[in-house]
Amino acid sequence: MARILIVEDEPTTRMLLRTVLQSGGHRVFDCRDGASGLQIALHEKPDLAILDVNLPGLNGFELCTALRHARFDGGILLVTARQTIDDRVAGLGSGADDYLCKPFDIRELKARVAALIRRNERRVSKERTCTLGKIEVDLGQKVARREGMPFSLTKTEWSLLELLLQNEGRPVSRAKILDAVWGYDSSPTTRTVDTHVYRLRRKLGDDVGALIRNVHGEGYALRHNASEELS
Ligand code: CA
Repeated sequence: MARILIVEDEPTTRMLLRTVLQSGGHRVFDCRDGASGLQIALHEKPDLAILDVNLPGLNGFELCTALRHARFDGGILLVTARQTIDDRVAGLGSGADDYLCKPFDIRELKARVAALIRRNERRVSKERTCTLGKIEVDLGQKVARREGMPFSLTKTEWSLLELLLQNEGRPVSRAKILDAVWGYDSSPTTRTVDTHVYRLRRKLGDDVGALIRNVHGEGYALRHNASEELS
């Protein structure tokens, strides 16, 4: 399951994309203009953004460029009725990963979406090992070591730590943590998040646990360097 953003001003296509992707088990966000798309993408940090090119206001190329400038690291698939080579080149030049022309075949859409999600997962999984103070973390093997001594984390704590690492230096809202760690239709409350963050910090120890900060009104953020300010 991936988190996918659709930015498409045409209601029929938007609904079609939403239906197809939701039936594939994905969590879908959608909107109809570039400015909202930019906001949602930076806030929700989806794994993949599907952008129509001809949009009111900010067009798909501009949105794509803006997302990459903002260091959005999910996949970007441009979907458009424009079919010239120049448009494809402009799309890929603006930081898109792939290009799909309307009218598209549902199977082709699904295949491209699946490929982009896999590519994104591989990219994320390459950066699986990191050091947090005196702790070495291997997210792939699910092994944590303090000065060489392994210690265990629960499945939930691994998911939580991984999410915070993926968003390093940026606050992650309790709602997003709930969504990513527990699944958005499950029943835990934001208090659950606080409890698990508390437990994770304790397991990491005072020095490393302190790298996970409660950012007032925004959620939790992990910083490799405790003295570093949030940007
Ligand atoms: Ca359009």
